[in-house]
Amino acid sequence: MTTAIDLHAHSTASDGTLTPAELVRAAADAGLDVVAITDHDTTGGWDAAVRALPPGLTLIRGAEISCRWHGVEPAVPLHLLAYLFDPGHPELVDELARVRAAREVRGERIVRLLQADGIDISWSEIITAAGGGTVGRPHIAAALIRAGLVGSTTEAFGPDWLGERYRLPKDDIDVFRAVELVRAAGGVPVFAHPRATRRGRIVPDELIVALADAGLAGLEADHEDHSPAEAAHVRALAADLGLLVTGSSDFHGTHKSVRLGAHTTAVEAYERIVAQARGVTPVASG
Ligand code: AMP
Ligand code: FE
Ligand code: FE
Ligand code: ZN
Repeated sequence: MTTAIDLHAHSTASDGTLTPAELVRAAADAGLDVVAITDHDTTGGWDAAVRALPPGLTLIRGAEISCRWHGVEPAVPLHLLAYLFDPGHPELVDELARVRAAREVRGERIVRLLQADGIDISWSEIITAAGGGTVGRPHIAAALIRAGLVGSTTEAFGPDWLGERYRLPKDDIDVFRAVELVRAAGGVPVFAHPRATRRGRIVPDELIVALADAGLAGLEADHEDHSPAEAAHVRALAADLGLLVTGSSDFHGTHKSVRLGAHTTAVEAYERIVAQARGVTPVASG
């Protein structure tokens, strides 16, 4: 029997559309054996996911940390998945809180730019709709859809809207500091969709070599934003560097069309992650 392992999924604790409880139920319904909850810059969904965990499903508690590489100008944004870290590690807690606050500053500035061009959306309404979850551009996209200005999230991320014209950077965590902090908190850092050129600029392989030296554990290879050639490149690089390789859906509910379990991780890689973790344990119920 194969084990279905999906190590990257979002809930309403950030920019997913299922609550943490709905996410774990959907993961079980999708036939997964293991799912990771990896909301942007928060552990806010962990407890609700644990409480709702269906029998037979194992939950990996994680997060997707908003990082930036300052090796080129302008700095390149990138995402670091972090698994099974101590959610109370003081410096990591502080950094995540700082990034969430920076996201709110950026989000409000984007809305002001839109309003200055006569676009009638409200920041307080967006914050209310986010319901306490980490605010991101998908929440602004949803407001543009509600206002009838765009037809879909994809359109809202186009060049006329949040993808370029109304795009502003946020103040992320330096990627080397993030790797160091995740390890200090007993967690296991994995570079999310490292080669996804369709998302924007990517970093050079030399950076990934340096991150491996700094404590990076793995690379996400199978992901809907990687072409087959990009995924193959990531796998080859991981083999060269002795890094583990993951595959995952990056499920966001109805914000994206990808389904839970669309890409999965081999059990050997999963076991390497669990073996390295010192923060919290996987949670199984039933
Ligand atoms: P932010 O974290 O605020 O910069 O927004 C980035 C988030 O927007 C990502 O985590 C995705 O969930 C979502 N996103 C980015 N590009 C797209 C796209 N083209 N279509 C739909 N969602 C997207
Ligand atoms: Fe997202
Ligand atoms: Fe990501
Ligand atoms: Zn993600």
